[in-house]
Amino acid sequence: MSAPRLAPSVSELHLHLEGSLRVESAVEIARERGLPWGELTAHELRRKFRYPTFTDFLMTVREMARVLSAYDVLERAARELSASLASAGVIYAEVYVSPNIYAHFGLDGAAALSAADRGFSTGEREGGARCAIVLDSVRQWGTEAAAAVLDAFERSGCARAIGFGLGGDEELPLALFEDTFHRARTLGLHTVVHAGEVSNAADVRAAIETLKVERVAHGIRAVDDPRLVAEIRDRGIALDVCLTSNYRTGAVRGDHPVRALIDAGIAVTLSTDDPSLFRTDLSHEFRLARRLGLSRRELATIASNAVTHSFARDDEKRRLRNRLRQRLLG
Ligand SMILES: [Zn+2]
Repeated sequence: MSAPRLAPSVSELHLHLEGSLRVESAVEIARERGLPWGELTAHELRRKFRYPTFTDFLMTVREMARVLSAYDVLERAARELSASLASAGVIYAEVYVSPNIYAHFGLDGAAALSAADRGFSTGEREGGARCAIVLDSVRQWGTEAAAAVLDAFERSGCARAIGFGLGGDEELPLALFEDTFHRARTLGLHTVVHAGEVSNAADVRAAIETLKVERVAHGIRAVDDPRLVAEIRDRGIALDVCLTSNYRTGAVRGDHPVRALIDAGIAVTLSTDDPSLFRTDLSHEFRLARRLGLSRRELATIASNAVTHSFARDDEKRRLRNRLRQRLLG
Protein backbone atom coordinates (compact mmCIF):
# COMPACT_ATOMS: atom_id res chain seq x y z
CA MET A 1 0.00 0.00 0.00
CA SER A 2 1.45 3.42 -0.89
CA ALA A 3 1.77 6.02 1.84
CA PRO A 4 -0.90 8.73 1.84
CA ARG A 5 0.47 12.16 0.90
CA LEU A 6 -0.24 13.67 4.27
CA ALA A 7 1.52 10.89 6.17
CA PRO A 8 5.09 11.02 4.93
CA SER A 9 6.43 9.68 8.22
CA VAL A 10 8.62 6.59 7.93
CA SER A 11 8.88 6.16 11.70
CA GLU A 12 6.55 6.13 14.67
CA LEU A 13 7.96 6.47 18.19
CA HIS A 14 5.05 6.20 20.60
CA LEU A 15 2.71 3.24 20.52
CA HIS A 16 1.99 0.38 22.90
CA LEU A 17 1.73 -3.29 22.01
CA GLU A 18 -1.12 -3.50 24.56
CA GLY A 19 -3.15 -0.95 22.57
CA SER A 20 -2.36 -2.20 19.09
CA LEU A 21 -4.02 -5.61 18.77
CA ARG A 22 -6.63 -5.55 15.99
CA VAL A 23 -10.15 -5.66 17.39
CA GLU A 24 -11.01 -8.71 15.24
CA SER A 25 -7.98 -10.54 16.65
CA ALA A 26 -8.85 -9.49 20.22
CA VAL A 27 -12.35 -10.99 19.90
CA GLU A 28 -11.06 -14.18 18.29
CA ILE A 29 -8.36 -14.67 20.94
CA ALA A 30 -10.73 -13.81 23.81
CA ARG A 31 -13.15 -16.44 22.49
CA GLU A 32 -10.40 -19.07 22.31
CA ARG A 33 -9.24 -18.19 25.83
CA GLY A 34 -12.75 -18.06 27.32
CA LEU A 35 -12.50 -14.37 28.28
CA PRO A 36 -15.49 -11.97 28.48
CA TRP A 37 -14.61 -10.05 25.28
CA GLY A 38 -15.08 -13.35 23.41
CA GLU A 39 -18.85 -12.97 23.92
CA LEU A 40 -18.83 -9.82 21.75
CA THR A 41 -18.64 -9.13 18.04
CA ALA A 42 -15.80 -6.91 16.79
CA HIS A 43 -18.35 -4.15 16.25
CA GLU A 44 -19.60 -4.45 19.83
CA LEU A 45 -16.07 -4.42 21.24
CA ARG A 46 -15.20 -1.35 19.19
CA ARG A 47 -18.17 0.44 20.70
CA LYS A 48 -16.77 -0.27 24.19
CA PHE A 49 -13.60 1.68 23.37
CA ARG A 50 -14.98 4.95 24.76
CA TYR A 51 -13.44 6.55 27.83
CA PRO A 52 -15.47 8.98 29.95
CA THR A 53 -12.42 9.27 32.26
CA PHE A 54 -8.70 8.49 31.99
CA THR A 55 -9.24 5.71 34.55
CA ASP A 56 -11.79 4.09 32.22
CA PHE A 57 -9.10 4.06 29.55
CA LEU A 58 -6.54 2.44 31.88
CA MET A 59 -9.12 -0.24 32.80
CA THR A 60 -9.58 -1.02 29.10
CA VAL A 61 -5.81 -1.36 28.66
CA ARG A 62 -5.87 -3.83 31.55
CA GLU A 63 -8.55 -5.92 29.83
CA MET A 64 -6.60 -5.88 26.59
CA ALA A 65 -3.51 -7.01 28.51
CA ARG A 66 -5.55 -9.91 29.91
CA VAL A 67 -6.37 -11.00 26.35
CA LEU A 68 -2.69 -10.72 25.38
CA SER A 69 -1.36 -12.66 28.37
CA ALA A 70 -0.28 -15.86 26.65
CA TYR A 71 3.07 -16.30 24.91
CA ASP A 72 1.62 -17.35 21.54
CA VAL A 73 -0.80 -14.42 21.64
CA LEU A 74 1.99 -11.92 22.34
CA GLU A 75 3.91 -13.37 19.42
CA ARG A 76 0.87 -13.05 17.15
CA ALA A 77 0.15 -9.48 18.32
CA ALA A 78 3.72 -8.36 17.60
CA ARG A 79 3.70 -10.00 14.17
CA GLU A 80 0.36 -8.39 13.25
CA LEU A 81 1.50 -4.98 14.49
CA SER A 82 4.64 -5.12 12.35
CA ALA A 83 2.42 -5.81 9.31
CA SER A 84 -0.18 -3.13 10.07
CA LEU A 85 2.51 -0.49 10.61
CA ALA A 86 4.00 -1.31 7.21
CA SER A 87 0.59 -0.95 5.59
CA ALA A 88 0.36 2.56 7.11
CA GLY A 89 3.73 3.42 5.51
CA VAL A 90 5.84 2.99 8.66
CA ILE A 91 9.29 1.42 8.18
CA TYR A 92 10.60 1.74 11.75
CA ALA A 93 8.70 1.90 15.06
CA GLU A 94 9.52 2.02 18.75
CA VAL A 95 6.88 -0.07 20.52
CA TYR A 96 6.30 -0.01 24.26
CA VAL A 97 6.04 -3.48 25.77
CA SER A 98 5.17 -3.86 29.48
CA PRO A 99 6.56 -7.14 30.89
CA ASN A 100 5.14 -6.50 34.35
CA ILE A 101 1.57 -6.26 33.03
CA TYR A 102 1.97 -9.81 31.72
CA ALA A 103 3.68 -10.89 34.93
CA HIS A 104 0.55 -9.61 36.68
CA PHE A 105 -1.44 -12.15 34.64
CA GLY A 106 0.92 -15.00 35.48
CA LEU A 107 3.51 -14.90 32.68
CA ASP A 108 7.25 -14.67 33.17
CA GLY A 109 8.36 -11.14 32.22
CA ALA A 110 11.50 -12.25 30.37
CA ALA A 111 9.62 -14.94 28.43
CA ALA A 112 6.90 -12.40 27.53
CA LEU A 113 9.58 -10.12 26.11
CA SER A 114 11.06 -12.98 24.13
CA ALA A 115 7.61 -13.83 22.73
CA ALA A 116 7.10 -10.26 21.51
CA ASP A 117 10.63 -10.34 20.09
CA ARG A 118 9.85 -13.50 18.07
CA GLY A 119 6.66 -11.97 16.71
CA PHE A 120 8.41 -8.80 15.58
CA SER A 121 11.16 -10.89 13.95
CA THR A 122 8.59 -12.88 11.98
CA GLY A 123 6.77 -9.69 11.01
CA GLU A 124 9.99 -8.17 9.68
CA ARG A 125 10.85 -11.29 7.69
CA GLU A 126 7.40 -11.05 6.09
CA GLY A 127 7.97 -7.44 5.00
CA GLY A 128 6.59 -5.64 8.06
CA ALA A 129 7.99 -2.59 9.84
CA ARG A 130 11.14 -3.00 11.92
CA CYS A 131 10.01 -2.68 15.54
CA ALA A 132 12.35 -1.82 18.39
CA ILE A 133 11.05 -2.41 21.91
CA VAL A 134 10.84 0.26 24.59
CA LEU A 135 10.51 -1.48 27.94
CA ASP A 136 7.59 0.04 29.80
CA SER A 137 6.82 -0.13 33.49
CA VAL A 138 3.51 0.85 35.08
CA ARG A 139 4.23 4.03 37.03
CA GLN A 140 1.59 3.49 39.74
CA TRP A 141 3.07 0.07 40.52
CA GLY A 142 6.18 1.80 41.88
CA THR A 143 9.91 1.30 41.83
CA GLU A 144 10.00 -2.44 42.61
CA ALA A 145 7.89 -3.18 39.54
CA ALA A 146 10.16 -0.95 37.45
CA ALA A 147 13.22 -2.81 38.75
CA ALA A 148 11.51 -6.10 37.83
CA VAL A 149 11.16 -4.87 34.24
CA LEU A 150 14.89 -4.20 34.08
CA ASP A 151 15.54 -7.62 35.68
CA ALA A 152 13.36 -9.24 33.00
CA PHE A 153 15.30 -7.39 30.33
CA GLU A 154 18.62 -8.63 31.72
CA ARG A 155 17.34 -12.21 31.93
CA SER A 156 15.89 -12.16 28.42
CA GLY A 157 18.97 -10.67 26.75
CA CYS A 158 16.51 -9.15 24.27
CA ALA A 159 18.62 -7.09 21.85
CA ARG A 160 15.48 -5.60 20.31
CA ALA A 161 14.84 -3.70 23.58
CA ILE A 162 16.66 -0.38 23.26
CA GLY A 163 14.79 1.91 25.63
CA PHE A 164 13.09 2.13 29.01
CA GLY A 165 10.15 4.22 30.16
CA LEU A 166 7.12 4.56 32.41
CA GLY A 167 3.46 4.79 31.46
CA GLY A 168 0.09 4.70 33.20
CA ASP A 169 -1.25 6.92 35.93
CA GLU A 170 0.88 10.04 36.41
CA GLU A 171 0.32 10.64 40.14
CA LEU A 172 3.36 8.93 41.70
CA PRO A 173 6.29 11.44 41.77
CA LEU A 174 8.86 10.77 39.07
CA ALA A 175 11.70 11.61 41.47
CA LEU A 176 11.13 8.19 43.09
CA PHE A 177 12.43 6.59 39.89
CA GLU A 178 15.75 8.46 39.65
CA ASP A 179 17.83 5.38 40.54
CA THR A 180 15.77 3.17 38.18
CA PHE A 181 16.50 5.45 35.24
CA HIS A 182 20.17 5.60 36.19
CA ARG A 183 20.25 1.79 36.16
CA ALA A 184 18.48 1.72 32.77
CA ARG A 185 21.16 3.98 31.29
CA THR A 186 23.87 1.81 32.85
CA LEU A 187 22.32 -1.14 31.01
CA GLY A 188 22.73 0.77 27.76
CA LEU A 189 19.06 1.69 27.36
CA HIS A 190 17.74 5.00 26.07
CA THR A 191 15.18 6.68 28.31
CA VAL A 192 11.75 8.23 27.80
CA VAL A 193 8.81 8.74 30.15
CA HIS A 194 5.09 9.48 29.95
CA ALA A 195 4.54 12.81 31.67
CA GLY A 196 2.35 15.86 31.25
CA GLU A 197 -0.43 13.94 29.53
CA VAL A 198 -2.97 14.47 32.31
CA SER A 199 -0.54 15.73 34.97
CA ASN A 200 1.17 19.12 34.88
CA ALA A 201 4.22 21.08 33.76
CA ALA A 202 6.09 20.26 37.00
CA ASP A 203 5.83 16.57 36.12
CA VAL A 204 7.42 17.24 32.73
CA ARG A 205 10.16 19.26 34.44
CA ALA A 206 10.91 16.28 36.71
CA ALA A 207 11.09 14.05 33.64
CA ILE A 208 13.83 16.09 32.00
CA GLU A 209 15.70 17.46 35.02
CA THR A 210 15.54 14.52 37.44
CA LEU A 211 15.14 11.48 35.18
CA LYS A 212 17.17 13.11 32.37
CA VAL A 213 15.09 11.46 29.64
CA GLU A 214 15.84 11.95 25.96
CA ARG A 215 12.17 12.26 24.96
CA VAL A 216 8.87 12.74 26.76
CA ALA A 217 5.75 10.79 25.75
CA HIS A 218 2.95 13.39 25.46
CA GLY A 219 4.51 16.19 27.58
CA ILE A 220 1.80 18.52 26.34
CA ARG A 221 1.17 20.22 29.71
CA ALA A 222 4.64 21.75 29.42
CA VAL A 223 2.76 24.39 27.48
CA ASP A 224 1.57 25.85 30.81
CA ASP A 225 5.13 26.88 31.82
CA PRO A 226 6.92 29.16 29.30
CA ARG A 227 10.32 28.73 31.02
CA LEU A 228 9.98 24.95 30.81
CA VAL A 229 9.02 25.19 27.14
CA ALA A 230 12.24 27.12 26.49
CA GLU A 231 14.24 24.56 28.46
CA ILE A 232 12.80 21.63 26.48
CA ARG A 233 13.59 23.44 23.23
CA ASP A 234 17.14 24.35 24.30
CA ARG A 235 17.92 20.81 25.51
CA GLY A 236 16.67 19.40 22.19
CA ILE A 237 14.18 17.05 23.85
CA ALA A 238 11.36 15.78 21.64
CA LEU A 239 7.74 15.39 22.71
CA ASP A 240 5.96 12.34 21.27
CA VAL A 241 2.47 13.79 20.84
CA CYS A 242 -0.66 11.70 20.17
CA LEU A 243 -3.58 13.87 19.06
CA THR A 244 -6.43 11.37 18.82
CA SER A 245 -5.36 9.75 22.08
CA ASN A 246 -5.50 13.09 23.88
CA TYR A 247 -9.00 13.82 22.61
CA ARG A 248 -10.34 10.30 23.26
CA THR A 249 -9.08 10.16 26.86
CA GLY A 250 -10.22 13.74 27.56
CA ALA A 251 -6.63 14.85 28.27
CA VAL A 252 -7.34 17.68 25.81
CA ARG A 253 -10.65 19.38 25.22
CA GLY A 254 -10.79 22.18 22.65
CA ASP A 255 -7.60 23.58 21.12
CA HIS A 256 -4.64 21.21 21.19
CA PRO A 257 -1.36 22.52 22.69
CA VAL A 258 0.63 21.08 19.76
CA ARG A 259 0.30 24.38 17.85
CA ALA A 260 1.86 26.40 20.69
CA LEU A 261 4.59 23.81 21.30
CA ILE A 262 5.66 23.87 17.65
CA ASP A 263 5.48 27.68 17.54
CA ALA A 264 7.84 27.72 20.56
CA GLY A 265 10.39 25.69 18.58
CA ILE A 266 9.99 22.33 20.34
CA ALA A 267 10.68 19.17 18.33
CA VAL A 268 7.36 17.33 18.14
CA THR A 269 6.71 13.87 16.73
CA LEU A 270 3.27 12.41 16.00
CA SER A 271 2.11 8.93 16.98
CA THR A 272 -1.01 6.84 17.53
CA ASP A 273 -0.32 5.73 21.15
CA ASP A 274 -2.87 2.88 21.06
CA PRO A 275 -4.12 2.60 17.47
CA SER A 276 -6.66 -0.13 18.20
CA LEU A 277 -8.10 1.40 21.37
CA PHE A 278 -8.33 4.85 19.77
CA ARG A 279 -9.34 3.62 16.30
CA THR A 280 -6.58 5.51 14.51
CA ASP A 281 -3.43 5.05 12.46
CA LEU A 282 -0.52 7.34 11.60
CA SER A 283 -2.17 8.58 8.39
CA HIS A 284 -5.17 9.70 10.42
CA GLU A 285 -2.92 11.52 12.92
CA PHE A 286 -1.26 13.51 10.13
CA ARG A 287 -4.63 14.38 8.57
CA LEU A 288 -5.89 15.50 11.98
CA ALA A 289 -2.78 17.64 12.48
CA ARG A 290 -3.47 19.29 9.13
CA ARG A 291 -7.06 20.01 10.22
CA LEU A 292 -5.67 21.55 13.43
CA GLY A 293 -3.79 24.05 11.26
CA LEU A 294 -0.31 22.56 10.84
CA SER A 295 1.22 23.28 7.44
CA ARG A 296 2.61 20.65 5.05
CA ARG A 297 6.09 21.96 5.84
CA GLU A 298 5.46 21.48 9.57
CA LEU A 299 4.24 17.94 8.95
CA ALA A 300 7.42 17.20 7.00
CA THR A 301 9.45 18.53 9.95
CA ILE A 302 7.46 16.29 12.31
CA ALA A 303 8.24 13.29 10.09
CA SER A 304 11.91 14.27 10.12
CA ASN A 305 11.89 14.66 13.92
CA ALA A 306 10.67 11.06 14.22
CA VAL A 307 13.92 9.96 12.57
CA THR A 308 16.31 12.41 14.27
CA HIS A 309 14.95 11.78 17.78
CA SER A 310 14.47 8.03 17.43
CA PHE A 311 16.68 5.65 19.39
CA ALA A 312 17.81 3.98 16.16
CA ARG A 313 21.51 3.59 15.41
CA ASP A 314 23.12 6.18 13.13
CA ASP A 315 23.24 3.85 10.11
CA GLU A 316 19.54 3.09 10.48
CA LYS A 317 18.75 6.80 10.83
CA ARG A 318 20.62 7.47 7.58
CA ARG A 319 18.57 4.78 5.84
CA LEU A 320 15.32 6.19 7.24
CA ARG A 321 16.30 9.74 6.29
CA ASN A 322 16.92 8.64 2.69
CA ARG A 323 13.55 6.88 2.54
CA LEU A 324 11.82 9.93 4.01
CA ARG A 325 13.49 12.22 1.48
CA GLN A 326 12.34 9.99 -1.38
CA ARG A 327 8.82 9.96 0.01
CA LEU A 328 8.66 13.73 0.43
CA LEU A 329 10.00 14.30 -3.08
CA GLY A 330 7.73 11.61 -4.55
ZN1 LIG B 1 1.54 6.19 25.56
